[in-house]
Amino acid sequence: MIKLHDKNFKPYLKEEQILAAIDKMAKEIAADYKDETPLFVGVLNGAFMFVADFLKAYQHPCEVSFVRLSSYQGLTSTGIVETLLDVPEEIEGKSVIILEDVVDTGRTLKQLVHLFSNTNVKEFKIGTLFYKSDVYNGEYTIDYVGLEIPDHFIVGYGLDYNELGRNLREVYQLNQTDMINLVLFGKPGAGKGTQAGFLKEKYNLKHISTGDVFRYNIKNGTELGNLAKSYIDKGDLVPDEVTIDMLKAEVEKNPDAAGFIFDGFPRTAAQAEALDNFLESKDMKVNATIALEAEDDILVERLLERGKSSGRSDDQDESKIRNRFDEYNEKTAPLKAYYEEQGKFHSVNGIGDIDEITKRLSKVIDSL
Ligand code: AMP
Repeated sequence: MIKLHDKNFKPYLKEEQILAAIDKMAKEIAADYKDETPLFVGVLNGAFMFVADFLKAYQHPCEVSFVRLSSYQGLTSTGIVETLLDVPEEIEGKSVIILEDVVDTGRTLKQLVHLFSNTNVKEFKIGTLFYKSDVYNGEYTIDYVGLEIPDHFIVGYGLDYNELGRNLREVYQLNQTDMINLVLFGKPGAGKGTQAGFLKEKYNLKHISTGDVFRYNIKNGTELGNLAKSYIDKGDLVPDEVTIDMLKAEVEKNPDAAGFIFDGFPRTAAQAEALDNFLESKDMKVNATIALEAEDDILVERLLERGKSSGRSDDQDESKIRNRFDEYNEKTAPLKAYYEEQGKFHSVNGIGDIDEITKRLSKVIDSL
């Protein structure tokens, strides 16, 4: 394990594995280009080590140049891509092969393709040492791939975390065992959102409320919002496929989170299983599910009170509220057994002062 800035990283790919992947790429590209003189364009800073080793493996006529873009700040892709070093001169009529260290969302690629779109090259190909196929948007064909990897945050062999780690000979991945991932469980009105607000500050966690994400989408009139609206208005659950995909996207937006609070998710057995499988694919897990318990009559009172100020249509009508409880009893309550079986279920009294309830929840979290 190594530490860069505030985060721990564990060994992931050995030097031999990386070099073998590069060798394979060099052979594939040579098969296509050994009779010409292609121009390899490395993407700085991350690809410098890869390009050096690639050229040692590619012993045929070729030219080399670099471009430099900047898109990462810390661990999250900011979406802002700046050109710092432009397309080489005199590339007209040449076969250009881009050499990227890693392709993930594809945002940087878009900028690269744009950079070369005004040039008169003979051919334009894309090669990447690491390829995160799970998150790639698929906009352009990737012609040559060294290694397909899951969506782990990686450093080393040219790749950095806030500029540290580029000189490591091997590739390391962010150690997710330091993470705390919590599921807040409980009926509508139990106080999940309120408590999540306090816990996220205290434990530096990212709060994902599927209800909030739906409401945000409804407010902005997105396709997802329009789809969810009819279900939410009636107090029914939104279909699993829609909710699961949305949840995954929210998690993927936050690769640097120290952990997550899932509020209002999972609500069905299919969602619970999907969450476990999804987290496992990212080397993460649910650490605890904490239920906030309160009686129905108190909850109805709370929700009707909230409905007066929140404007939520599903909080203003007792029959819709009761329907949400029915949905909970039928589809969500059985998850208690699912998490109990995994030894992860904890129950907390949700009645009392807000402060007092936060303390009860913290006691559970501190004992994990
Ligand atoms: P909430 O804010 O958590 O009470 O959610 C409000 C409404 O959004 C629910 O009544 C459902 O219609 C919908 N919703 C939120 N989370 C989910 C979920 N995990 N699965 C299905 N529907 C959900």
